[in-house]
Amino acid sequence: MSPQAPRRLHCPTCGKPVEWSDAFPHRPFCSERCRLIDLGQWAAERYRIPGDGDEPPPRSGDPRDEEP
Ligand SMILES: [Zn+2]
Repeated sequence: MSPQAPRRLHCPTCGKPVEWSDAFPHRPFCSERCRLIDLGQWAAERYRIPGDGDEPPPRSGDPRDEEP
């Protein structure tokens, strides 16, 4: 069996090494600050996406209702 070494990863925000253990309650972020920063960026990304209302209007009813 492999030794129970804690999983290592890197903080997605600042790139610091983070251990997947209770020593890092904000994992995968190194700190709450980095977690909030990442959340903020994520939200900003979402809001930046332009809402295009180019969807075609839904057809009403099924084709059988259409006149020949
Ligand atoms: Zn960090």
